[in-house]
Amino acid sequence: MDLRFTPEENAFRAEVRKFFQTEIPLSIRRKVIEGRELTKNDIVTSHKTLHKRGWATPGWPVEWGGTGWSPVQFYMFGEEMQTNGVPPPVGFNVSMHGPVLIQFGTEAQKKHHLPRIAACDDWWCQGFSEPGSGSDLASLKTSAVRQGDHYIVNGQKIWTTLAQHADWMFLLVRTDPNAKKQLGISYLMLDMKTPGITIRPIVTIDGGKEVNEVFFDNVKIPVENLVGEENRGWDCAKYLLGNERTGIARVGLSKMRVARIKELARKVDAGNGSLMDDPRFAEKVAAVEVELKALEMTQLRVVSEDAKSGRGGKPNPASSILKIKGSEIQQMTTELLMEVAGPLALPFVDEDDMTGHNEAPGGADWAGPTAPVYFNNRKVSIYGGTNEIQHNIIAKAVLGF
Ligand SMILES: Cc1cc2nc3c(=O)[nH]c(=O)nc-3n(C[C@H](O)[C@H](O)[C@H](O)COP(=O)(O)OP(=O)(O)OC[C@H]3O[C@@H](n4cnc5c(N)ncnc54)[C@H](O)[C@@H]3O)c2cc1C
Repeated sequence: MDLRFTPEENAFRAEVRKFFQTEIPLSIRRKVIEGRELTKNDIVTSHKTLHKRGWATPGWPVEWGGTGWSPVQFYMFGEEMQTNGVPPPVGFNVSMHGPVLIQFGTEAQKKHHLPRIAACDDWWCQGFSEPGSGSDLASLKTSAVRQGDHYIVNGQKIWTTLAQHADWMFLLVRTDPNAKKQLGISYLMLDMKTPGITIRPIVTIDGGKEVNEVFFDNVKIPVENLVGEENRGWDCAKYLLGNERTGIARVGLSKMRVARIKELARKVDAGNGSLMDDPRFAEKVAAVEVELKALEMTQLRVVSEDAKSGRGGKPNPASSILKIKGSEIQQMTTELLMEVAGPLALPFVDEDDMTGHNEAPGGADWAGPTAPVYFNNRKVSIYGGTNEIQHNIIAKAVLGF
């Protein structure tokens, strides 16, 4: 197996890096690197800059604005994006709903929505999970009853990421309560300005407000907003969830964090030198680097296999391995950053500001986001299918149990 990159591939990486470093505002990239909260405007600005260059929807078919890149180019693009702190294009638009629409949508739906999705003129959110229906998604209960030219939707979604920013939601609803559970589900598109929708934020352990409960009270959705066939929404859901896990290892992000751990640890006094000179701390950093190298090699092996065989657009079951290891390493890096920050990582909450995003005292501005990022990263082993569910997939699809 040859894992060397060609000169053309290396030139591509250099071009991508230069673009990221010169075109995406440093103020935005610094926020990502330092773990500070991005505004909607930051994310949309980055998305639109990539879109202008033709790089917001690289994975789409070329006729709809894709780039036709090889798996190696995708890998390099993702890694450079993460190591340079570039916010990725809005995933709900680009990796989730767009591909579903391309695969299952009508020509009219594609023509109207795809250009707006690609340019992030509309922000989409994902209305799949419900209380009691996360891992067992097919048990979802939100109902849609057909009345003339509309569906009348009642029920509740939960954990809807950034619903507060969204113009549209793609959601799964139950259209046939009597059918076997996977066969009574439909995939709809909902304009978030429709009357009857209530969005309630769930404040997470880091004090952030990125997830929400969304309630539907007799919400009217035109029948033309059905994607695919009625009661065949599970096909769309499976297709979407397969795409959600690609690129989930986040090797570039963890590399960026390890570099930051080393840079900051060199600044922290630990008696006879910096924290980085402490052999016990250096050993922990080395252990993460070894794990990360192994993950990178596994990812490159998957990329190389996919480049040779193609997979007909189907996700590689090895992506579950990448998801588990990638999320574990991301969490390890946030633990090490906590160790670097030490007591400065404690969020001292101003009584008047319960967001928890206050800076640490003592002028160590960098330490402020450390604890929120650590707590926030507990999520990475849950979303995109929990790590336990990934173990089940590996048992079935890779080991054949
Ligand atoms: C930060 C964050 C953002 C999210 N964003 C969105 C979003 O935008 N839209 C959306 O629709 N959803 C979103 N989700 C929901 C996410 O997909 C679910 O949380 C996830 O699928 C788990 O479902 P659950 O929370 O209902 O937990 P459960 O399914 O109830 O699982 C509870 C525990 O049991 C374990 N478990 C369950 N079934 C099995 C099994 N068969 N074998 C072994 N162990 C099992 C799980 O691994 C977990 O540890 C988000 C979640 C988080 C944390």
